[in-house]
Amino acid sequence: MTLMRCPHCRQPLVRTDRPPYLVWTCCLCGGCAATLAVLRKGIRHDALQRAWQRTIGHGRTALLLCPDCAQLMNRVPTEGPEIDLCRQCQLVWFDAGELEAMPQRSAEEIAAAQKTERWARELREFQRRRDAHQEFMLWLMRHPISVPH
Ligand SMILES: [Zn+2]
Ligand SMILES: [Zn+2]
Repeated sequence: MTLMRCPHCRQPLVRTDRPPYLVWTCCLCGGCAATLAVLRKGIRHDALQRAWQRTIGHGRTALLLCPDCAQLMNRVPTEGPEIDLCRQCQLVWFDAGELEAMPQRSAEEIAAAQKTERWARELREFQRRRDAHQEFMLWLMRHPISVPH
């Protein structure tokens, strides 16, 4: 991903941790950008789904350029604020305060999703170690010289 800039201030966006999200924030106006995949962690999925569908045909073209690809974004209404969405990057731009105003998933739902994510990460790590171990055993078989004790 190239350097992203604020669609209002043209400032380079800074990667910031705003649990449960990692977003790209403008230090001047407080707006931020995040992909739909990231936003699914905290925003109700049905709300995101509806916003995405509204970019097809219904979306009014906004005057803001996408921070990533610099194409015009779609201005889309939600149950919360109106947001700017880039169809190409699946990226959403929030003005200051808009991210917090989006319909949130429940705390239990977020916790459950984080647990699943952690479990998947541990599984991948386990798999990686197992693969490394198998590679080592294969290497050992191809080098039948005994390891010095
Ligand atoms: Zn800005
Ligand atoms: Zn874009």
